[in-house]
Amino acid sequence: NLPVVVIAGRPNVGKSTLFNRLIGRRQAIVSDMPGVTRDRKEGEALMRGRRVRVIDTAGLEEAAPDTLFGRMRSSSETAVEIADLVLFCVDARAGITPADAHFANWLRRQGRPVLLLANKAEGKAGTDAALEAFSLGLGTPLALSAEHGEGIGDLMGEIVDRL
Ligand code: GDP
Ligand code: MG
Repeated sequence: NLPVVVIAGRPNVGKSTLFNRLIGRRQAIVSDMPGVTRDRKEGEALMRGRRVRVIDTAGLEEAAPDTLFGRMRSSSETAVEIADLVLFCVDARAGITPADAHFANWLRRQGRPVLLLANKAEGKAGTDAALEAFSLGLGTPLALSAEHGEGIGDLMGEIVDRL
């Protein structure tokens, strides 16, 4: 059984972009219905020579605002339960939102190992903004840019060290 890494966080922080970055081109996003974005949710990644099962907690994007927390929770619950490591993503450019804080509190109570990621942290401004994520109480945020491919090697090393 491969170790399981789950990518979690509120919508739009870059979870699916990170997922695709970790999984690589071979298993890139496939759209199986016209007009409907169906992100692949699971894939296998090779990190420092180690095979890892990666799960993207997608599908939150359609949640109504008033049920966002509930939907985030139910969508992530099952995945987090089987996670050997949770990658909790925030958007360094947007800063920490109430949804991030709420989700972080819930995640802390799940008792799974968490690695805090400050995504969209390309460039110097991004790195500075990433420091705000310290306030979540989930340890030192790892700054990266899934879209620009910055910090991905370091992230993979950190993941493998924790598995
Ligand atoms: P998800 O809802 O958490 O799965 O987020 P997505 O992966 O769909 O990304 C949401 C938006 O953020 C998209 O427009 C991405 O192109 C953008 N995005 C993702 N990663 C980065 C990044 O590292 N930097 C910047 N500037 N934008 C990013
Ligand atoms: Mg997504």
